[in-house]
Amino acid sequence: MPHESESFPEVTSAPVAALIAHVVPLTRTRAIRGSFDYRAGAEQLAVGSIVRVPFAGRSLLAVVVALDERSELPLERLASIEAVAPERLPGDLVALAGWLAREYCSTPARALSLMLPPGAGHGLREQQLLIATATPAGIAALSDGTRLSAGQRTALAVLSGGGEALAAEIGTALLRRLEGRGLVRIELATRGRRPPRQTVASAPAQAPVLTLEQQQAVQAINAALAQAWSAGRGDAQRGDGPDTTVADAATTGAPAGAPAPLLLHGVTGSGKTEVYLQAAATTLAAGRDAIILVPEIALTPQTLERFVARLGEVVAVMHSGMSDGARHDEWLRLARGEAHVCVGARSAVFAPLADIGLIVVDEEHESSYKHDSDPRYDARNVAWQRARMHGAVLLAGSATPRPESVMRCTPLRLRERADGRPLPATKIVDMRGSHHPLHPETRMALSDCRREHGKAVVLLNRRGWSNFLTCGSCGRVWMCPNCEVALVLHRAAGVIACHHCGHREFVPRRCPDCGSVSIARHGAGTERLERELFETLATPDFPVLRLDADASDLSARAAILARFQAAPAGVLVGTQMIAKGHDFSGVTLGVVLDADQTLRFPDFRAEERTFALITQLAGRTGRGSEGRVLVQTQTPTARAIRLAAAYDSDTFLRGELRRRKALGYPPFATLIRLVCASPVAEQADAAAAALRGHLKPRSSEILGPAPLFMLRGQSRVQLLVKTRARTAAIVAVGAAVEALAGTREARGVAISVDVDPI
Ligand code: ADP
Ligand code: ZN
Ligand code: ZN
Repeated sequence: MPHESESFPEVTSAPVAALIAHVVPLTRTRAIRGSFDYRAGAEQLAVGSIVRVPFAGRSLLAVVVALDERSELPLERLASIEAVAPERLPGDLVALAGWLAREYCSTPARALSLMLPPGAGHGLREQQLLIATATPAGIAALSDGTRLSAGQRTALAVLSGGGEALAAEIGTALLRRLEGRGLVRIELATRGRRPPRQTVASAPAQAPVLTLEQQQAVQAINAALAQAWSAGRGDAQRGDGPDTTVADAATTGAPAGAPAPLLLHGVTGSGKTEVYLQAAATTLAAGRDAIILVPEIALTPQTLERFVARLGEVVAVMHSGMSDGARHDEWLRLARGEAHVCVGARSAVFAPLADIGLIVVDEEHESSYKHDSDPRYDARNVAWQRARMHGAVLLAGSATPRPESVMRCTPLRLRERADGRPLPATKIVDMRGSHHPLHPETRMALSDCRREHGKAVVLLNRRGWSNFLTCGSCGRVWMCPNCEVALVLHRAAGVIACHHCGHREFVPRRCPDCGSVSIARHGAGTERLERELFETLATPDFPVLRLDADASDLSARAAILARFQAAPAGVLVGTQMIAKGHDFSGVTLGVVLDADQTLRFPDFRAEERTFALITQLAGRTGRGSEGRVLVQTQTPTARAIRLAAAYDSDTFLRGELRRRKALGYPPFATLIRLVCASPVAEQADAAAAALRGHLKPRSSEILGPAPLFMLRGQSRVQLLVKTRARTAAIVAVGAAVEALAGTREARGVAISVDVDPI
């Protein structure tokens, strides 16, 4: 019989031999919730122990969430735990999983699965290596006339220095023969797999002299750290503590005892990383741990390199580019207290650190902090919950912070660039009436850039060659068979492709409907732009590079960035990827083509995204050199574009908050998005209608059901809950989804719940 409660009290006691373990089996099924009782064997168990249990006829990975003396069931009816993994989740993460399941309308099992050590339960162990050392007899054999082959002599000479060596590096077969003669000892030993490090030559190990603004920010942060730590751990340390969420706190004020989060709002190039480094150093000096969240390490290895170079071996790294094995070993270093700082992408918010004093969220506006499958958690919100549980300071930073963060955090400002240079001058280029994707002024600026041996970044947030194809005779548009979107031409690959599901087909020669061979291409993407710039500008000294999702994987993208970084002159064309926090030096020209592209999205965040994209692209320009920026647009008077060009983030944010307040959007309300998806349109419709019937949150507005475009062969219908009573609405949504489950309307329909969709 499952226990109903989904909240796990945090128990930090040492492993004990208990009689009964309450265990959450890690299944994806929503229908199975709560914990189940198992008989503990002779093994030492604790809250957070990772075990295998028999469940519904299978053997499942599971997590112990409580220990008990007795069960409601007779002992002989309980199954036994089959095995215990060597790793264990810290108690606070078990508590955090309970909170996360509630906050994101998911299940404890799914939340716990996020927190497992990478590769847990798949037989992963730390790497075991054969290590050889010379015995005293072996050392003596070098000089006492013992018969040795030349190879054996060399091997013994290497080992006789008193050191150890990897057997594989010397030759395991040769060493085994020496071992047989008692001259060498070979042992199996554990050696951590360390992630390969990209070395960036520019990472200095010495701190620069801080600017005055940096000093002030560091002082304010140190004061907040001292205050938070003297207050001790927050109220929310118990996972079942007051269920205050970020949005509630935004309207009701932060809970007593929890330090208000800090927002380092600093212009691009103002040296925010340096401030994070100092805060981390303070944290380490006080004997506490730190988590540094960064959006995507493979694309911006510099941030990581700076942390490693300055803080050294205490830094552990977690990101998707690492092997499971390497991530597992880093996890262990953190869990054992061998490493005290975790630098990583979104999931590093679950780093198993014991005594967190600081959590940094770098580039806090980045959408990659949101997890895109259930539980759809937002690492920025989880970071705040975790900070409160540990009595830690949350420090978010960005040049383009979200209105949410501006409202809820204590601001710290860096208004000047660290190198003392001004922000590059920005000019809006009016594209009304222009037919070519590049304005004559932009062409001129690019050829000036080449003449002056400068570097340029050109942003076009649309990849491929052209947006869509039409038949010149009958008007047919080539669409994806699985999604209701047009296929995009990729000329080099000779295909038209869907950017949603990956469907590809050969470029058509004639229209299948009317047989016409007149096929028109519309719009320009990065591939076409690259070709055009290549043909008009490229020389051996002035390369034209392109960075977008066509580059097969992260390492291919990192290589393109490294080439551009190293080149003395040239152009980098790309999608929003090129506007991320890269610290390129010597970029003299930044160009945004079609700045309206993000503005056209029917979404309340369209202006926020547009403002951020332009500001961030401008931010890559004029570091260590003069720079200027051109912004091509069809709507030169649009607020987001005008204010981004003027670097006026205060006015932009004030206006944005006023608008959202008037319209009842976050951070003044919480949005919860429910999507019913099914291959059969009628089923998705019926499920959405039924779901709406079950939804009765008080003081909430329910928008929809509204159809979305078909995706991957699934018809989709959306409901949007807009509420000021966040916690109550989340509970109501969870109840509605549960009420629908198992009914006729739910059959064959996948329902996804997204709290705080982005
Ligand atoms: P941001 O993240 O704010 O855009 P970065 O942290 O990337 O800025 O810093 C921009 C550049 O300024 C980096 O090359 C960094 O090494 C340099 N920098 C930071 N602080 C200082 C300082 N106090 N003096 C000189 N250079 C600095
Ligand atoms: Zn046709
Ligand atoms: Zn598709």
